[in-house]
Amino acid sequence: MAHSVSAMILAGGRATRMGGQDKGLIPLAGQPMIQHVINSIAPQVDHLAINANRNQADYAALGYPVIGDDISGYQGPLAGMAAGLGWSPSERLLMLPCDGPLVPNDLVARLLAALGDGDVAVAHDGKRLQPVHVLLHRRCLPSLQRFMAEGGRKIDRWYAELDQRTADLSDQQDLFVNVNTPMERDAMEQRLNPTANDCGHDAPSLPVEEALARMLNAVTPITGRRQLALRSALGQVLAEPITAPAPVPAHDNAAMDGYALRTIDAEQKTLQLVGSAFAGHPFTGTLGAGECVRIMTGGVVPAGADAVVMQERAERDGNTVVINQWPELGENIRRAGEDLQTGDTILPAGRRITAADLGLIASTGRAEVTTWRPLRVAFFSTGDELRSLGELLEAGQIYDSNRYTIYGMLNNLHIEIIDRGVVKDDEAALTQALDECAADADVVLTSGGVSVGEADYMVKLLRAHGEPHFWSIAMKPGRPLTFGRYRQAWYFGLPGNPVSVMATFSQIVAPALRKLAGENPPYQAPRFQLPCLSDLKKKPGRQEFQRGRMITTESGQRAVESVGRQGSGILRSMSEANCFIVLPADAEDMPAGSQVEVEPFTLT
Ligand code: AMP
Ligand code: MG
Repeated sequence: MAHSVSAMILAGGRATRMGGQDKGLIPLAGQPMIQHVINSIAPQVDHLAINANRNQADYAALGYPVIGDDISGYQGPLAGMAAGLGWSPSERLLMLPCDGPLVPNDLVARLLAALGDGDVAVAHDGKRLQPVHVLLHRRCLPSLQRFMAEGGRKIDRWYAELDQRTADLSDQQDLFVNVNTPMERDAMEQRLNPTANDCGHDAPSLPVEEALARMLNAVTPITGRRQLALRSALGQVLAEPITAPAPVPAHDNAAMDGYALRTIDAEQKTLQLVGSAFAGHPFTGTLGAGECVRIMTGGVVPAGADAVVMQERAERDGNTVVINQWPELGENIRRAGEDLQTGDTILPAGRRITAADLGLIASTGRAEVTTWRPLRVAFFSTGDELRSLGELLEAGQIYDSNRYTIYGMLNNLHIEIIDRGVVKDDEAALTQALDECAADADVVLTSGGVSVGEADYMVKLLRAHGEPHFWSIAMKPGRPLTFGRYRQAWYFGLPGNPVSVMATFSQIVAPALRKLAGENPPYQAPRFQLPCLSDLKKKPGRQEFQRGRMITTESGQRAVESVGRQGSGILRSMSEANCFIVLPADAEDMPAGSQVEVEPFTLT
């Protein structure tokens, strides 16, 4: 039977040869270095945590618990190991350094096999033991604590006190290649990504789902509530649930047209008709012995009545009614509170209010609701070639269209928008614009300036004044999307190409903005399969969001077709399309007739 194993990645070191930069966070092939270790190890273990003593928020943004050393100032990995053994939810704990990105996918299995019933299995590279590539039993914690309390510093001395086993990993030399200097980082970048340019943009980038999960994990909703008149709340997000102020239905009422009666009168030959109960016009008296009341569906059941007989089962002659088939007690009565009891939730907190919701809230008699304040997003376009509307174009210049699509998409999310215009590709100007935006808004969005040659630039500014969390996604269109923090604001750096802007916004940015705005759960567009009438071109590697049109053919078949040219600069393709055709990363060319996944564009 497989044992449960946890892993702790050690990122608590001082990285003296890296100029004191936090090693785990150093960019490598489009991701923080530690992410490479996580990617290999996470599928092999049941739980994963990161041991770090600095930049803990950055590590937490990767989506795993961050555990600091219990003992401060303790050099070397022992303190991290003690923290790990204290944390480990599993009996067995794997320890690995954050700076060795090349981890084999059978590492845990091999260490487990070597450990058997021992205390610790230490990896052996063929020449020597590698003391921070180990699998430890949790029962070693007291021994480690005592060892450290007695002033022990040397890890192998401690291992020598345990039932130590050795795992021969001499065939896995890559595992022991670690990055200690900037030169070693560059060498590793080349290994991971031989075609990389200076910016690492051809890096094996993050899968879209992974990027999305990481981002949703990193952002926390804004707080701050507003009391709004009902109509102004359309499109805003409820901060409190809407509850039923009274039972629905408010009264027992008839489920059928017929006669309200008393079932104890079942012996009687005929009943006396004493009145009627129609919707909005209840019978105000109380039913006496041998009496019945004409009642229509929805009519309030009169006091004294305990069932309604369908009119088809009764015969009326003047004011005399003969019941041919008596109803059971309670038959054809819809009870008060059957749909909703007082205090039941009609709409949950976190709900973005739709037209139907407005009506539903109105039906409870409420004129005001409490919503989260709207999210504030500041954005600008970057590019020396861009001109704003109203300006004349000179050679090589284009109008800034991204600010308009971005405006539209933000507006659809009912966001408060700060438009900061066009900013030149100039460090001082960009820094100033970013500073101003971050001071005014929850989120800063930019477009352009993140493709080859410029990427390091935005990432560099982010690194100087914030934290880039990732900057390369395996998505087409739109690979160079940057996500992180700039000062106290969240930052999204969208690509410059107009279609990439829309695709990355809808797939990655919108869900994060929805979560930030308090939407819970954030809306997810539906996806479903349709036959595709066009041939599709696709190279394996990145997940693609091609532009398609859902149609009904003349023979009544529902299908999707490509809108044609798929260049990331052809904004018309977005206008003509009504859905994305979502092709998985490993897909190749597809002939017409293939089933494909489609995602309709979100209208609100
Ligand atoms: P960049 O990422 O800045 O290299 O831009 C990639 C491409 O998108 C270039 O062809 C730019 O001219 C174009 N582009 C960048 N920003 C905009 C914008 N705001 N509106 C229209 N096109 C843009
Ligand atoms: Mg540009």
